[in-house]
Amino acid sequence: MLASVRECGKLGCREAAEATAALRYRERVLWIGDLVPQRDPNLLDLCGPHAEGLTAPYRWRRLDERTSPPLPVSAAGLRLG
Ligand SMILES: [Zn+2]
Repeated sequence: MLASVRECGKLGCREAAEATAALRYRERVLWIGDLVPQRDPNLLDLCGPHAEGLTAPYRWRRLDERTSPPLPVSAAGLRLG
């Protein structure tokens, strides 16, 4: 059985999910990581821009542990010199 592409969990967003977010209540951490292979009802799948725009609740910490950069280097427009 083929896994279908998961969509971003934000209402009204149809982008493909690229990241997974989780609220760790005990540590008060908003965790963002690479998209988990299996869909988990406790986790929130997000597209790149929505993962980027996600902010931690008041007095929470935002922990971004994604291993893949949100944008390819060539698209970032960074040029030195
Ligand atoms: Zn989205």
